Amino acid sequence: MESYSYAAPSNVSEAVTLLAGNASEGRQTQILAGGTDVLVQMRGSGHSPRTLLDIKALAETNRLEVGPNGIYIGSAVPSAVINENAELQVALPGLLEAADLIGSTQIQGRATICGNLCNASPAGDSIPAMIAAGAVCDIATADGSKELLVEDFVTGVGQNALQVGEFLLGLKLPMPRPETKDAYLRFTPRTEMDIAVAGVGVSLTVIDGICIAARVAIGAVAPTARLVPDAAKALEGTDLNEQVLAAAGEACKAAASPISDKRGTAEYRKKVVAVLCRRAIALAHQRIQGA
Ligand SMILES: Cc1cc2nc3c(=O)[nH]c(=O)nc-3n(C[C@H](O)[C@H](O)[C@H](O)COP(=O)(O)OP(=O)(O)OC[C@H]3O[C@@H](n4cnc5c(N)ncnc54)[C@H](O)[C@@H]3O)c2cc1C
Repeated sequence: MESYSYAAPSNVSEAVTLLAGNASEGRQTQILAGGTDVLVQMRGSGHSPRTLLDIKALAETNRLEVGPNGIYIGSAVPSAVINENAELQVALPGLLEAADLIGSTQIQGRATICGNLCNASPAGDSIPAMIAAGAVCDIATADGSKELLVEDFVTGVGQNALQVGEFLLGLKLPMPRPETKDAYLRFTPRTEMDIAVAGVGVSLTVIDGICIAARVAIGAVAPTARLVPDAAKALEGTDLNEQVLAAAGEACKAAASPISDKRGTAEYRKKVVAVLCRRAIALAHQRIQGA
């Protein structure tokens, strides 16, 4: 009878070889980062035996770099570590507020934002914030590595674009200029330890009172988090007045295709995503103004 097994390779090529070897033998492998989803899923029914491939011993996945040429967040870096990084607090307050919403302090001591992305829940809090911040996936492959925009990474509910033998090494993000700030807001029926009914990530660049660039992404209102280019278009070239914010909110509402469930109807989720969009834009704008 097949059982679970555990491997903790010490370099990326060993990890990729193990993934490929298991695949050719027809044995499943699952990457283990913080395990806050994996361990819950292991207790669920229908989770067949597999090799858990722990990526926490790899130098590459533990990289955390913040510099003028860009930011790198390795896939084994827990949320608690990024949340306490003083440079990231200044550069990406929105991404950090999303990471800070994932579970409790205890969960954040283990959970990674890359695990949140790979798990590909429609309600994954960090995903809209990553998309808004322009994050790019750095993926380990048999031939080396490749890059993919975060907005193209999640392909469906619980599904991502990783091919057999690949895993996520980390995220590359541009270092925002001083006039660029992000924000993430979600709505949950309970104040804590709940998943989003709707979420919005926003990144704005404002110079001399005019928004010159914007990225808006929505979460929990479609099978995957979505970039909303029409919301960005409504903002760019404006002074971010109330009318413009309302137009961006309407664009988010139009881009949403939510389900109805016990936590909210589709109609309700659409209303909420429009409100969150307006508030997240206002918050990012306040951050740029230093308010
Ligand atoms: C009590 C509790 C509260 C929670 N609250 C929230 C919440 O508010 N918001 C929210 O969004 N989530 C929440 N979660 C879900 C979970 O904590 C997050 O999704 C977390 O970010 C997952 O990260 P992890 O490192 O623990 O991933 P893991 O559990 O290790 O992995 C998650 C999935 O991604 C895959 N994976 C992980 N890393 C990689 C990689 N580098 N390459 C390829 N595949 C990989 C794994 O194989 C697995 O399928 C909660 C979970 C719990 C238990």
